[in-house]
Amino acid sequence: MKLMVVSDLDGTLLDHDDYSYEAVLPVLDRMDEAAIPLVVNTSKTRAEWLAMRRDFGNVDPYIVENGSAIYDGEKVEVFGVSRADILDFLNPLRSKFKFTGYSDVGVPEIIKWTGLGRQSAERSADRHFSEPLVWQDTPEKEEEFCKMVKASGLMTLRGGRFLHVLGETDKGRPLKYFRDQKVAIIALGDRPNDLAMLEAADIGVVIKAPGDFVLEAEGMLRSTETGPRGWAEMMTQIFDQLQIPQSTTNNG
Ligand SMILES: [Mg+2]
Repeated sequence: MKLMVVSDLDGTLLDHDDYSYEAVLPVLDRMDEAAIPLVVNTSKTRAEWLAMRRDFGNVDPYIVENGSAIYDGEKVEVFGVSRADILDFLNPLRSKFKFTGYSDVGVPEIIKWTGLGRQSAERSADRHFSEPLVWQDTPEKEEEFCKMVKASGLMTLRGGRFLHVLGETDKGRPLKYFRDQKVAIIALGDRPNDLAMLEAADIGVVIKAPGDFVLEAEGMLRSTETGPRGWAEMMTQIFDQLQIPQSTTNNG
């Protein structure tokens, strides 16, 4: 059976703090030589991943904005809801709740909010299936707002300082797109938003997070190291067990 690796980015393939990923390179060589695709599955935007993926030499399909869409060559398969529809839903709620979204401000404000550089902020703002909001109303109002979003068939996700509004999906749902390709899927992630993806895979791998956080998940493999080192540790173990040949490239 063919194999496919589906991976979260931040804290999994990329180091949580400095975004480094050197530790995974020997495994990526091994995957290239064995023709095993690496499908990145991220909450980031398409523009954010495209800016990065050249460094990985990656040409495989990818999943963006928390399971909202798969880009596979010329094909786009949408599992979420278009941003235009999300904004149409949000607009009438402005009279009832106080919030400011990415679509209400320019890039300079997004830089202030996120601390990103200009180009990164532009890529982060290039959203197609979600709208991040800065909540400016009471927690009670937030709860009421989240209920209304849910009743409309959309959903909210709390991430750092933003309340994201997006179509009802998760990182696991798009995996069914690959099912008729008859591949066995190994998935790796580090946070609760990765759980649905780990559960939808044939082999789920929890990458240890820095600090005290432990992702509750049953029946998953677990790395002892964090981030890309944990990724390389677990992929090496799994590939050795499956007798995937070692890379012939010398990375030392
Ligand atoms: Mg992560």
